[in-house]
Amino acid sequence: MNDLEKFEYNNEEEAEMAQLHSIHLHMNAVAEVQKKLATQKSIPSAEFCEECGVDIPQKRRELVPGVQLCVDCQSLSERIKANYRRPGDYTE
Ligand SMILES: [Zn+2]
Repeated sequence: MNDLEKFEYNNEEEAEMAQLHSIHLHMNAVAEVQKKLATQKSIPSAEFCEECGVDIPQKRRELVPGVQLCVDCQSLSERIKANYRRPGDYTE
């Protein structure tokens, strides 16, 4: 192996190291997201709606990890939240 070949080899190795480093950074970012998802999933889905006490269907509990409200109360609370964005509309 002459010097030139050695130099090229080192370059390749450096490029590989840089690539590994960026993969490592990427993995860290992925791990962060996975950790957040795991935390979210660790909240058990409620069996009964927190608002009205109605049964939350098993399917909804599986689809929405950590769900606490039935479909009706969920959409109601979302509508209330939407109304908060324009409080000027509400007069009584
Ligand atoms: Zn409800």
